[in-house]
Amino acid sequence: PGILYLVGTPIGNLEDMTYRAVRTLKEADLIAAEDTRQSRKLLTHFDIPGRLVSYHEHNKQASGPELIRLMSEGQTIALISDAGLPAISDPGHDLVRLAIEAGITVVPIPGANAALSALIASGLPTDEFTFIGFLPREKKDMQRELTRLIPAPGTLLFYESPHRVMRTLEQMLEVWGDRQVCLARELTKRFEEFARGTVSQALEYLGEHPPQGEYVLLVEGRSKAEADEAEAAWWQELSLEDHAE
Ligand code: SAM
Repeated sequence: PGILYLVGTPIGNLEDMTYRAVRTLKEADLIAAEDTRQSRKLLTHFDIPGRLVSYHEHNKQASGPELIRLMSEGQTIALISDAGLPAISDPGHDLVRLAIEAGITVVPIPGANAALSALIASGLPTDEFTFIGFLPREKKDMQRELTRLIPAPGTLLFYESPHRVMRTLEQMLEVWGDRQVCLARELTKRFEEFARGTVSQALEYLGEHPPQGEYVLLVEGRSKAEADEAEAAWWQELSLEDHAE
């Protein structure tokens, strides 16, 4: 069978394209992309002739099995996302799963990723973190998800659009209190910017500088003190259970 390459592409700055990504895209029989028009621009920039086919949220049900069939017949396919790593907050994951089930070799070609680029420069803990991606849009669903995340330790990583970032921060303030955050905007691009502080400071800042561009939102997880308290309570409960037996 063929091979499925998952090719990382830039998240804004074209210089982040790797040599290996260019070669893999040149050599692949087919390039599956979320937005073929957008991807054609990238390919043209790097002189990659490539045959493009579309694979996105709305056609993945039909397109996925078709791509698997082609790979089973020996074709190599390179999957790219609109930006960054395929399968991170995009439908790529479904294709990876189908490929594994079909016995097709899956090869990652590493490249830029918005969440991890934001994390390493945020100053928030990097030893433990949870990637959440996009939160549900509905207020009730978002609140439920934020509530579920109350005990999560380590830094929490979110993707957010400029239209919703303030509303999301307001919900976080309500559910979690005034935690430390970092807003990472327009990474690798001309107007790259990091705003660090508490949630309420971030809201104040956005009140003065209306949100624009793409955002990664990073929030500190449950504090060490809170975690220690929860752990102590857990041990306490355990010993009570032991006594009860
Ligand atoms: N696959 C991508 C990756 O590996 O980072 C993420 C795709 S997701 C559909 C798009 C979201 O990623 C945007 O809404 C934004 O939150 C974030 N993002 C992408 N590029 C970014 C950038 N240059 N700066 C900040 N955030 C970015």
